[in-house]
Amino acid sequence: MTAPQNWMRDTVLTGGRWEPRSTTTDVENPATGEIVGRAASATVADVNLAVAAAVAAGTDWGRTTGKQRSAALEELVAALRDRRDELVAATIAEVGAPITVAEEAHVDLAIEIIESFAVIARDTPLRERTGNSVLLRRPAGVVACITPWNYPLYQLAAKVGAALAAGCTTVLKPAELTPITTYLFCDAVLETSLPAGVVNLLPGSGTVLGPALTEHPDVAVVSFTGSTMVGRQVGRSAGELIKRACLELGGKSASVLLADADFEVAVPATVDAAMLNSGQTCSAWTRLLVPQERYDEAVTLASKRADALVVGDPNDRSTDLGPLVSHKQRLSVLAAVDGAIERGARVAAGGTDPIPGLDGHYVRATVLCDIKRGDPVTTEEIFGPVLVVEAYRDEDDAVALANATDYGLAGAVWSADAEAALEIAARLDTGQVDINGALFNPLAPFGGWKLSGLGRELGVIGFEEFTEWTSVQM
Ligand code: NDP
Repeated sequence: MTAPQNWMRDTVLTGGRWEPRSTTTDVENPATGEIVGRAASATVADVNLAVAAAVAAGTDWGRTTGKQRSAALEELVAALRDRRDELVAATIAEVGAPITVAEEAHVDLAIEIIESFAVIARDTPLRERTGNSVLLRRPAGVVACITPWNYPLYQLAAKVGAALAAGCTTVLKPAELTPITTYLFCDAVLETSLPAGVVNLLPGSGTVLGPALTEHPDVAVVSFTGSTMVGRQVGRSAGELIKRACLELGGKSASVLLADADFEVAVPATVDAAMLNSGQTCSAWTRLLVPQERYDEAVTLASKRADALVVGDPNDRSTDLGPLVSHKQRLSVLAAVDGAIERGARVAAGGTDPIPGLDGHYVRATVLCDIKRGDPVTTEEIFGPVLVVEAYRDEDDAVALANATDYGLAGAVWSADAEAALEIAARLDTGQVDINGALFNPLAPFGGWKLSGLGRELGVIGFEEFTEWTSVQM
């Protein structure tokens, strides 16, 4: 495939204008190794320009009404819909996501989220009364949106949609591996009536731009999604400056099957969730917890499902798993699997052998079992297509086992009795739980307990992260 010229960029966006920069970074297609795009490598000087533009734009944008913000977000939804096909193609090319996943989980969901914030901007009052006080819900200021490579457009939408709805202005810092979708997003922004400087874009290195953004005195909120290690650095710097940091970090979420669950449904659904986006999903259910007496049955069903998943060309509609995003990520996942095998785990499906005919950063859909309790493969995030199966003795043990990680982002409970499942869900120390495969709800707050993060994204609660209150007594 010849890379579209539109994906070969050398510009940053500040104050509504594309400005060329002399240094760029290539974007690789993880399925083929081809160069499919290029992005500017912004500098610390660019951070100052972009933040100044965002501050200047904030004076007027921060005074807009909810209806005006809503109308602008609706225009953005339309502009994104107009370029849906290109956004899908770019997601496939830079992330390696299979086309069906790119369509549904990356692009359509991202557009749906912007739309949800158009509704929230319209319907959420900016003034409320309590007793003799008028409570003013005000924009927090300039938001630095630092996003990862696993769902570049979705992560961006969750941050920018909420920030704009709240009347904030933004500086976007996409992952260096996946900047193309963010460029296309900004193209869409420029087609709307959103004023210049409300959205600014700085592609480039996180180690250069991240600290400069986080420590900039005029950045009021840092909204970060990525690794716990970098999240800690962001949180530390933000704490020092007493500014807000919303941190969406990793996960090691458990899918708990109660004894009466329908295993024929729950096990394959858990495998599919673990492998979504080649397992590069922070909320993936990467642990399958089953009663001891149904362990063998669960391992058999899980390996059957994993073996049936098609690993291959992300442009092919029959593909379930594309490549991992990078050579580095592939090595990291293979090392985690090898480590578990050395410590005694059994490979029920997949494993670390290369896949004949596939030269990209591919890893087989892997199921590990017979693992010692507390083994790192059951507690640490792998961020690849790897599911572990674990046995529990009784429901108290299931809850203890599910909670026995430093993370707490998502989870699932399966039972013939939804109320019994809800009782278990209420004991899981985690931000989201789906019962019996219930649908993702983009209006429900999303975020983590423990090392999975601070704050919430999505819905009204996500919007609140970008607002400040002024209480006026009169
Ligand atoms: P990082 O946390 O390094 O990257 C996330 C974003 O932060 C990128 O935009 C990155 O920039 C930027 N960044 C890097 N350093 C800093 C810094 N000092 N200050 C501010 N921002 C910074 O994740 P990786 O890409 O290295 O992935 C490593 C692991 O993180 C994965 O294996 C996975 O376990 C986890 N992860 C979790 C995600 C989630 O959704 N919770 C998403 C992605 C990864 P740059 O473009 O230079 O990378």
